[in-house]
Amino acid sequence: MKKALRITLPATLVVVPVALALCACGTARSSAVANVDVAGMDKSIAPGDDFNAYANGGWIKATPIPNDKARYGIFDMLADDTRKRTVDLIQGSANGGQAASDDARKIGDFYGSFMDEAAIESKGIAPLKPQLDAIQAIAKRSDLARVLGGQLRADVDALNSTNFQTLNLFGVWITQGLTDPSHSFPYLLQGGLGMPDRDYYLSSSPSMTDLRKQYQAHVAAIFTLAGFGDAPARAARVVALETKMAKVHATRVESEDVHMAVSWRRDELAAKAPGIEWPVLLKAAELNDVPVFIIWHPKAIPGLAALVSKEPLDAWKDWLLFHSIEKASGFLPDAFVKESFNFNGKALSGTPELRPRWQRGVDYTSAAMGEAVGRLYVERYFPAETKRKVQAMVEDLVKAFGKRIDALSWMSPETKAKAKEKLVTLKVGVGYPDNWEDYSGLEIVKGDALGNRQRAELFEYRRQLAKLRQPVDRGEWWMTPQTVNAVNLPLQNALNFPAAILQPPYFDANADAAHNYGSMGAIIGHEISHSFDDQGSLFDASGRLVNWWTKEDFDHFRGAGEALAAQFDAYKPFPDLAVNGHQTLSENIADLGGLLAAYDAYRLSLQGKPDVVKDGFPGDQRFFISFAQSWRAKMRDAELRRRIAIDGHAPDQYRAQAVRNVDAWYDAFAPKPSQKLYLEPKDRVRIW
Ligand SMILES: [Zn+2]
Repeated sequence: MKKALRITLPATLVVVPVALALCACGTARSSAVANVDVAGMDKSIAPGDDFNAYANGGWIKATPIPNDKARYGIFDMLADDTRKRTVDLIQGSANGGQAASDDARKIGDFYGSFMDEAAIESKGIAPLKPQLDAIQAIAKRSDLARVLGGQLRADVDALNSTNFQTLNLFGVWITQGLTDPSHSFPYLLQGGLGMPDRDYYLSSSPSMTDLRKQYQAHVAAIFTLAGFGDAPARAARVVALETKMAKVHATRVESEDVHMAVSWRRDELAAKAPGIEWPVLLKAAELNDVPVFIIWHPKAIPGLAALVSKEPLDAWKDWLLFHSIEKASGFLPDAFVKESFNFNGKALSGTPELRPRWQRGVDYTSAAMGEAVGRLYVERYFPAETKRKVQAMVEDLVKAFGKRIDALSWMSPETKAKAKEKLVTLKVGVGYPDNWEDYSGLEIVKGDALGNRQRAELFEYRRQLAKLRQPVDRGEWWMTPQTVNAVNLPLQNALNFPAAILQPPYFDANADAAHNYGSMGAIIGHEISHSFDDQGSLFDASGRLVNWWTKEDFDHFRGAGEALAAQFDAYKPFPDLAVNGHQTLSENIADLGGLLAAYDAYRLSLQGKPDVVKDGFPGDQRFFISFAQSWRAKMRDAELRRRIAIDGHAPDQYRAQAVRNVDAWYDAFAPKPSQKLYLEPKDRVRIW
């Protein structure tokens, strides 16, 4: 599933999108302003025909996507603004002199080493040489298992941010057991593909066929740059091996099926997934004393293991060489950075230009020492007053959601009681974690850019492994405070709202209720609703995977979900490609549930008084316009195709249309039955 508000990119691929341009966020506003961007609307469009274009059409027409971005919208503008603040904090750390704390020095050295392009150029590929030598020295299958195991990192997340992509053979995720919330387990996920998903290897569509050719050329180019002979033949072997991996991979929709996961004891791995010398692999991965694994992809993992024994050793060595270089490319000389961007940025996402180095440096530093950077961010930019106000808003939303549960006509009292229990025990993190990560064990060496990155990844992996021997912490955070996003954690029955999203334009202490509830309120409601979406609803108040529904209630709930999936299946951004209603169902349920709860909370905040007209819009209209403007974005075609393939979220323009299921939107805008978004009352999806 995919619980975050938006997709997050794996840190290995951080070179891909996102970049510059400052929004007006954070500028002082007069009290309780409406915050409707009237100039960004297109009033020539009827709200009932295309509510997204009505609310955002003016902006969409007037705003080009910057050359270094694949997508651009208010989310990206805020991320840019946050990155600008963060680089100042990082550089302040670097200039702290003797007085700098240990963490501040490390942050400054990490960033400074990455920014020292001359030093990186002069070393060439030498920093990677020991690893490449170790791969070339592989002489037998046990050597292969050792190298494959040694590369595993905690780099995927099956239920929170739902990142299923890893360049390693397997992804590792460490968290509570599905049916045992009091202990942590290692989850093993399928991996190994250099392109985003199996479809990129197997689909016969012209755009995928073309990308496969470009990918093979990219693999060859990387080999040539790194000084390996026979590059075209090596590239052909790598792509052929990955195509075999793709054939055994689960689809994106299958990956979201939590019931596919199984538990295997360590001593069962060899029998259930033969082909790998598991004891060797597990020892290298520091997982050899773990008694039980949760196998997220019980068909793909045996499939991949079989390839490890069947495919020629040379093909595996080429695959390992390519992936090792590709993973390190951001920290290698410019020719590698450019080649990686040419494929991962340009070809896959359609982004014309690489974003500035400092922006990549900020993201890498945040990936390496996220909470140390986050601590600086919070001290400077997240006042206690904001935290208090957001906490109050969360309480309003939880109350509103509870009232909606009470009022559901289709749900039995037994199921309602369980749902309420889950709601009242929800643990909501606002801004930043209660306990900060300790980085004293992480070695950061000035001038060793790649080594710093690799040590940081290993440090994080070992921090995750240590959880296997510790009591479960329901207060654990999965996003850094400087992340513009939010996440629901179904196994912890918890939410994280990082400090960076709790600011204008999403949340503005000076804005009126219609804006704050339509924008940030709907986001808070979205995350709460994830606890009750098609997948979140499979977990109880303790985070245990257990069915707490009566059969009738669950059947009704499923039926409503199917109707919503059908609604999204009908959205076609390209003649040959539609949104996948099932792949995006959790998010679409969360958007709708969040919008409904936010609307109720907004009405409650008015205490029975009518909201005044501002900028020519009554309060209810402003609420829905602020909602749609919070999804304001535009995307390049290649990026839109990539996201439809791998993203659990529907494209933003369709998320804004969630209003068509809400009765209050019909009251506010009076759309006509002949208009495109209009749904008869019986066809409006009513879930929560
Ligand atoms: Zn979400």
